Amino acid sequence: MTQTLNETALKDTVAAALRACGVDTAALSGPTEARSPLTGEVLARVPLHTAADTEEAISRAADAFTTWREVPAPVRGATVKRWGELLTEHKDDLAVIVQAEAGKITSEALGEVQEMIDICDFAVGQSRMLYGKTMPSERPGHRLMETWHPLGVVGVISAFNFPVAVYSWNTALALIAGDTVVWKPSGMVNLSALATHALLARAVQETGAPADIHQLVLADREGGAPLIEDERVALVSATGSTRMGREIAPKVAERFGRILLELGGNNAAIVTPSADLDLALRGIVFAAAGTAGQRCTTMRRVIVHESVVEELTRKLVAAYPTLSIGDPRNEENLVGPLVNEASYRAMTQALADAKAQGGTVLTGGERVLEEQYPQAYYVQPVIVQMPSQSAVVRDETFAPILYLLTYSDFDEAIALQNGVPQGLSSAIFTTDQGEAERFLSASGSDCGIANVNIGTSGAEIGGAFGGDKETGGGRESGSDAWRVYMRQATNTVNYSGQLPLAQGVKFL
Ligand code: NAD
Repeated sequence: MTQTLNETALKDTVAAALRACGVDTAALSGPTEARSPLTGEVLARVPLHTAADTEEAISRAADAFTTWREVPAPVRGATVKRWGELLTEHKDDLAVIVQAEAGKITSEALGEVQEMIDICDFAVGQSRMLYGKTMPSERPGHRLMETWHPLGVVGVISAFNFPVAVYSWNTALALIAGDTVVWKPSGMVNLSALATHALLARAVQETGAPADIHQLVLADREGGAPLIEDERVALVSATGSTRMGREIAPKVAERFGRILLELGGNNAAIVTPSADLDLALRGIVFAAAGTAGQRCTTMRRVIVHESVVEELTRKLVAAYPTLSIGDPRNEENLVGPLVNEASYRAMTQALADAKAQGGTVLTGGERVLEEQYPQAYYVQPVIVQMPSQSAVVRDETFAPILYLLTYSDFDEAIALQNGVPQGLSSAIFTTDQGEAERFLSASGSDCGIANVNIGTSGAEIGGAFGGDKETGGGRESGSDAWRVYMRQATNTVNYSGQLPLAQGVKFL
């Protein structure tokens, strides 16, 4: 990805990247502003689709499903393979757009596209491994087996902070499973969605797949409502805040639709007396301050043993001010902007609440570069020492706030780690194998992700991704997450010529 800062206007750079991905920028217009958190400027205007448009998109996807489900899975995989190739070819272009809309530093924007390429590779392999089991039947001359079938239309609702990777986790697997997809991205990252969609459209066209297997709707909540309510949407995969999950889950459940929820996190690391503190320091700073605290897996709490808290605090307080904050197109900067003013307000409010609840700011917390970018929100990552796990610590504030808590007994540390409503990611820094194993055991971390000697963020696509409690319980990406996108059938085949009933039942 080339350095573009001060060379070309952001708007022009993004327009060129969009065109390279196949988006007709001359035709872009509409009521929605695509605004960059880097500078606050408007990059383009895009359409706002209505509920009727979304219903139409669902109809097209439902029609395409009847053809797509008949295509052999490895042939479906060829379309995903081509998408992965095009993503590789246009990695820089897409990363430019992701950076401009989500505010990521260059290596993270590129990393997000790499994650898409990785899941395409994974899905292509999976397209030859949609395995079902064969079980011994209790009856002679019978065969018992399971088969996996395409599910239908998958509605994908995604969040601003991973504008394209989470969509690709869902879509690569849904497509090889034989499903069709309707995507409603966050309204803050419509350009990233348009570019991603254009690349997939090219892969679909070049591989001869039905054109309507993927649909994009640029809608607000009202416009996207049919994805939640329409019975033809077999699975709703929704990534975003716990508030959003709470609103949509009952509606999908009411119509007995399937739902996959990837909601908020409140992730912690425990630092034990035996920890390598320099390694812990690096893991904590990346996970807590990286991405300006705008990852679902961002470390929001660090729970430190009282014997090492002084030393670790000293290291953290020395490291934080060295993080350069500013336009992420400048590769020296490690912390980009918050996505918008509302995020900044939420951060300010959380800090005020933390202080009112006995917290002490150890470093950071100020808005910076305000004069240069009056419409952009750059903030210093902040560490707040808290006397206990008070109300503010239990909430996810989507900003770089790290709450520092102290413990004296290992069980207390686990209780603190688990003592929040969310259950996404967690970590322990220790060189004591007993502690590490206890952390990973049934009575240890209650999160969907539990790491040892590594921070809470930065998952690989090979493992299942997701969390429990108010994080929603969904699992996406690797491992056997593909099953969520398929329906399972159990088949009994009788070749005995008799009709013995199961459990010895006699009838006729
Ligand atoms: P958000 O909840 O504001 O929006 C997410 C998506 O849901 C957007 O597309 C939005 O338009 C849509 N939406 C919101 N309310 C809706 C409703 N009532 N009906 C239909 N659609 C609705 O979240 P955000 O600010 O974009 O993203 C940040 C949040 O997402 C954080 O809480 C973060 O932890 C979470 N997140 C979770 C994961 C995960 O995998 N667990 C990944 C990324 C982000």
